[in-house]
Amino acid sequence: MATLTFDSLNPATGAVVGTHPKQDATAVREAVGRAEEAAAWWAALGPAGRRRRLLDYKAVLAGRLRELAELVHEETGKPVGDAALELVLTITHLDWAARNADKVLRRRRVRTGMIGVNLEATLEYLPLGVVGVIGPWNYPVFTPMGSIAYALAAGNAVVFKPSELTPGVGVRLAELFAESVPERPVLQAVTGLGETGAALAADPRIKKIAFTGSTATAKRVMAACAENLTPIVAECGGKDAFIVDADADVRAAADACLWGALSNAGQTCVGVERVYVVDAVYEPFMRELSERVASVKAGRDYGPITMPGQLDIIRRHIDDAVKSGRAVTGGPSSVRAPYVDPVIVEDVPEDSPAVREETFGPTITVRRTRDAREALELANASAYGLAGTVFSRNTRRARELARLMRSGMTAINSVISFAGVPALPFGGVGDSGFGRIHGADGLREFARPKAVARQRFPLPGMNLTSFTRRPDELERLIRIVTFLHGRRKR
Ligand code: NDP
Repeated sequence: MATLTFDSLNPATGAVVGTHPKQDATAVREAVGRAEEAAAWWAALGPAGRRRRLLDYKAVLAGRLRELAELVHEETGKPVGDAALELVLTITHLDWAARNADKVLRRRRVRTGMIGVNLEATLEYLPLGVVGVIGPWNYPVFTPMGSIAYALAAGNAVVFKPSELTPGVGVRLAELFAESVPERPVLQAVTGLGETGAALAADPRIKKIAFTGSTATAKRVMAACAENLTPIVAECGGKDAFIVDADADVRAAADACLWGALSNAGQTCVGVERVYVVDAVYEPFMRELSERVASVKAGRDYGPITMPGQLDIIRRHIDDAVKSGRAVTGGPSSVRAPYVDPVIVEDVPEDSPAVREETFGPTITVRRTRDAREALELANASAYGLAGTVFSRNTRRARELARLMRSGMTAINSVISFAGVPALPFGGVGDSGFGRIHGADGLREFARPKAVARQRFPLPGMNLTSFTRRPDELERLIRIVTFLHGRRKR
């Protein structure tokens, strides 16, 4: 008989952190039913009521920061300090979403244009209803909350399916929400394996799915959603590039590069995976990188690989990279499960798996380029397009490179800094997915635009939308439009 529960394990020790129910399609259906009712109540509360409760939830999370960080540490293996940082970022986003939802989404008048001169036109963003959030394990608070906080602030109820590796964190986030909003189950967690997520995606009462995970699973989720025409926002990871231009501060670049690549054991969707260094600074950058990496230790500065299966992918990429390139730091022996020591390999061919596929480990490939233009071309030659980094002292040039980088976000002279700015939207292009969380775009992602045009007075002699319209009325309109729009400007 199939087991009805599953354990979440500490990936560093193998100890059982918690046992959770495998919620089946019936349980998911029931949760969505409760959420539908809660969504109506939450929407009716209005922006001020939601704001007050979400700011209270923020205070609850801040009050439990240490306890939550400890739980994140236990389920993912990451250092408690990194888990705390994740919570700090989450709280900042929740605060922004709560405070800005009304301003971004509330009804506003828009210009009507010439033909609508007798109209009043308004636009507002209404809640969708129930949003399903399917979350990952690498940042089990920050990543799903990037959808949850914005969906709640936009007036929706949420059913959240945390990763099977971090169910305890998901359940706790929902429990703590109920302290601020005890009246209705506006945020629920459903636990289980892939099937639980599949049941959520297949429920026709879900009005949007926010998915974070692999590109392959995103496609499966999208196929399930297609059945009901349920829209999705998909955040599917990346193969982010780090460009070091000729005038970069090489010490700062090496420092940032290492943190971007190795923190969280490289299990970061916007982590650094490919490094392109302009010839003029290649030697000093590599010297700096090699010196600094010597003092970074797996198990002390960053945790284990959270998902055991990922070790095979990391091992395959390292084996392949050292065969075709030159190991600067580490190599195949760096994989000592569940930890992986830092690996840096130079001159790995651009068509190899280590350069093309998401590794999700503490490894980087480094390539020397003629100039920043070549670095950008190589950076952009990826199926993924989530984020990236540019190091340059020339602000104009750095901005231009950032703009031309085929990615949703780019950090200049820092890594991942965009994630800490709640007003900035977060999401990718290509195999990295589509749609946006965070910022005003993230709020609108979980709302539907509602457009209303109200006639204030009839236009004399211009009754255009009537069978009683006379030819001279149309003639007058054509003359006006020709006068206003008919002149070509060269
Ligand atoms: P998946 O894409 O398989 O899982 C992501 C989420 O989707 C989990 O909650 C998972 O549940 C759920 N899920 C799995 N199958 C289905 C389904 N058929 N329908 C609905 N939901 C489903 O990622 P993994 O955790 O297996 O990691 C695989 C790779 O994904 C990593 O190696 C990494 O490259 C990438 N990844 C990217 C992340 C990012 O931030 N963009 C985050 C995590 C991983 P369950 O955990 O129970 O299987």
